[in-house]
Amino acid sequence: MSGRFYDVIIVGAGPAGSYIAYELASRGHNVGVFEQRSVLETNTCCTGIISTECFCSLELSPELVLTKVNSAKFFPPSGKYLRLQTENVQAYVVNRLLLDKALASKAQSQGAQYFYSSPVIDVIPGKDSIQVEALCSRASEIFSARAVVLANGFRPKLPKKLGLGKIKSFLIGAQAEVEAKDVGELEVYFSQKIAPGGFAWLVPTCVGTSPNKAYVGLLATSQAKLHLQKFLNNLFSQSKITSREVKIEQKAIPVGTLARSYRDRILVIGDAAGQVKPTTGGGIYFGHLGARIAARVLDEALHSDNLTADRLSRYQKEWKAKMGRELSRGYWARRAYAKLGDRQIEAIFNALDPNGLAKALLKPDNFSFDWHSRFILAILRHSSAYPWLKIRRLLLREASL
Ligand SMILES: Cc1cc2nc3c(=O)[nH]c(=O)nc-3n(C[C@H](O)[C@H](O)[C@H](O)COP(=O)(O)OP(=O)(O)OC[C@H]3O[C@@H](n4cnc5c(N)ncnc54)[C@H](O)[C@@H]3O)c2cc1C
Repeated sequence: MSGRFYDVIIVGAGPAGSYIAYELASRGHNVGVFEQRSVLETNTCCTGIISTECFCSLELSPELVLTKVNSAKFFPPSGKYLRLQTENVQAYVVNRLLLDKALASKAQSQGAQYFYSSPVIDVIPGKDSIQVEALCSRASEIFSARAVVLANGFRPKLPKKLGLGKIKSFLIGAQAEVEAKDVGELEVYFSQKIAPGGFAWLVPTCVGTSPNKAYVGLLATSQAKLHLQKFLNNLFSQSKITSREVKIEQKAIPVGTLARSYRDRILVIGDAAGQVKPTTGGGIYFGHLGARIAARVLDEALHSDNLTADRLSRYQKEWKAKMGRELSRGYWARRAYAKLGDRQIEAIFNALDPNGLAKALLKPDNFSFDWHSRFILAILRHSSAYPWLKIRRLLLREASL
């Protein structure tokens, strides 16, 4: 047993955890970060696509960029793809392992102390402080803090134990790194047979070498690994990829938010709070926005020595104001999409191309890589013809938008 005391203990050194560690440490707080992985050497299951907005906000080095994205091919079930291109770069594929390392070293440079291979097994709130039990070198140790931030990804055990509720709705994301041939740009596949309730992707990460490296992955409501294996076989038989044996990894992605992301001395950020775009499963940017708001609220609460639930509730109010509507509209749109059959998905693609609707929807007024609700509303506004009517009915049935 030991008794180290911190102003704030962060559980988890993913992008959200390391970003808040950096923000708080640079404001002079004494920060300890506990991470179960060993020295961030194992990659996390993630494609690493982030918008240019997110890239700038995180102040990342261009060395992290694997590819720039300004075009993509969208495949309906028939395979007759629709190619869309924008003038400007919309997103970057970044090396996710290097992203985690870069954010951690930024936090360390401000004095945050990292404990790797140290899973937190319990968080015990007290009146004047809060205790964290972690396994360091497999031995249980107790650390104390004035506040704790849960940034431990979508792992419901700790939030539930602390009375913050449990996110019930989730998708499974599965991914493999492959060698690909002649795949120059992002490909996205929509078919309930390929990825039930979700979509699949082929993302080149190293263009210009032979063969190219790429990520192949999908989101599905269940059996993601099995669906991905079938999809990989399919791509292999089309000679799009050249790897036969690949390692498939998977991770659950929350689609829905935690009932409460705060209580006395505790805040929850990132995937742990459900700060994830339900349309795409992308959580790096919204987790970063959540971390930024949490850092400000917590900094003020630490200075005024008022870490009550009442004071910390500002965090939830602010992050819901920033992204709550996006999350709820995305949630209902995703649910409506999951109810479409392949024929309806095909019909949507048919309606998109000929009348130039796809290009109209991509105009900056309608489209943003991160903020999808305007895009969803633009689709509804254009819903004069079948199959938009069907989608509109589904969406309206799911929620009042
Ligand atoms: C296949 C797939 C592809 C994806 N692609 C993208 C993408 O292209 N773009 C995008 O924006 N998002 C993507 N995501 C989602 C993205 O990975 C997450 O939203 C993001 O990682 C969330 O960051 P976080 O910091 O909240 O949590 P995490 O990245 O999950 O980090 C949590 C950290 O906490 C640690 N931890 C957990 N429990 C404990 C504990 N008890 N004690 C100590 N440490 C603990 C974990 O080891 C981990 O390092 C993808 C997800 C999947 C599954």
